[in-house]
Amino acid sequence: MIVRLRKGATQEQLDEVVRRIRQAGLRPDISIGIDTTVVGVVGNTQSVDENLFRELEWVDSVIRISRPYKLVSREYSPDTRRFRIGGALIGGGEVVIIAGPCSVEGREQILSLAEQLQAAGAQALRGGAYKPRTSPYAFQGLGEEGLRYLEETRSRTGLPLVTEATGTHHHPLPGGRVEDRAVLEAVVRTADVVQIGARNMKSYGLLEEAGRLAGAAGKAVLLKRGEAATLEEFLLAAEYLVLHGCPDVMLCLRGIRTFEAQSFQRYTSDIAAIAILKRESNLPVVFDPSHSTGDRRLVHAVALAAVAAGADGLLIEAHADPRAALSDGQQCVTPDELSRIVQDVRKLERMRS
Ligand code: PEP
Ligand code: MN
Repeated sequence: MIVRLRKGATQEQLDEVVRRIRQAGLRPDISIGIDTTVVGVVGNTQSVDENLFRELEWVDSVIRISRPYKLVSREYSPDTRRFRIGGALIGGGEVVIIAGPCSVEGREQILSLAEQLQAAGAQALRGGAYKPRTSPYAFQGLGEEGLRYLEETRSRTGLPLVTEATGTHHHPLPGGRVEDRAVLEAVVRTADVVQIGARNMKSYGLLEEAGRLAGAAGKAVLLKRGEAATLEEFLLAAEYLVLHGCPDVMLCLRGIRTFEAQSFQRYTSDIAAIAILKRESNLPVVFDPSHSTGDRRLVHAVALAAVAAGADGLLIEAHADPRAALSDGQQCVTPDELSRIVQDVRKLERMRS
C-alpha cells in the first residue's frame, strides 16, 4: 500500500501517517520527492482499512499494490532503482559489463585475467570462490583463499567484485577440511555485490540473511533466476532481499530449463523475460549469456539480443584459456572475444537511447 501526501504536507502530518502505520504493526518507507511525499506501507496490509489514511485531509491518495510482490514492483516505485557498482552505475541506461571466470583458480590467474578483462571493457570482476557444483566430486572453489585473491585483484585494478555466497553454512574443502567462517559472512565482507545463485533462489533463509547482512554492510545483491522458477517466484525471492534490508538488488536471468536442455544449448535464453521484468519491476535487470547458452559460440549473439531487449547489464564468463578452465570452460569467452562483444554492445546501446 502507498500513501501519497498532498503537496505542502508538514512534518507533523507525515509523523501522524507514520504513527498510524506503526500502530497497525506495519513499517513505513518514506520517500520525499520534490513536490510530494510518498509513504510505502510495508508488511501484510490486507486487513488494513484504507480509511485509516484517507480520512486525513493531508492525504492525497491511498493506492493498493495489486501484485504479490510489492517493494520490487513498478507500481511501488515507477523509477528504476539505480546504484553504483564501483565506478559504474547500474539502472542508469548504460549497460554494465560484469565479467570473469566461473571460478577463481589461483592468484596469478585472477590477477592477470582481471587486467585483460578490464582492458576489454569489463567494469566489474565476477569470480566464484565458493561454487555450487552439481557433482560433489567437481571443483568446489578455493573458498577463503579465493576471496583473498579477489581482494588483492580489486586493490590492484580497482574493479569491484561480484562473488557468490552459497549458503549460511560452512564450506567443505577437499580432504574433509571445513572453513570456520560461515560462507555468507565471508562473502559479504569481501564482495561489492553478493551473488545468490540459481540453485539458491528459493533458499528463503539465505535470502533473509543475505538481505540483512548485505543491507547493513551497504553491499548490493545479484540474484539469479532459478532454472525452473516462474518470474513471479523470482520477483518474490527478490522481495525477500529488499524486505529484509537490501534495497540494491539486481535481477539476473541465466536461462531456464526447457525440452531443449543439453543438446544444443545448456538452458534456453529467456530474452522476453528481460522486457517483462523491466515492465513489472523497479530493479535493474542483468542477463547472463554464458550460463543460458553453455556455449561460447553463442555468447556474442545472445548478449546483443539481451541488450536489444533492454538489459541493464551483462554477466559474461571469461577465461584466458577456456579449455583449461576448472569449471564452465565451454562457455567462457577469451578477453579478445569479450572486447568485441563490448564494442558491439556500445554500438547497440546508442540505438536504444
Ligand atoms: C555461476 O554464475 O557460475 C553459476 C553457478 O551460475 P547459476 O547459479 O546461474 O547456475
Ligand atoms: Mn559458471
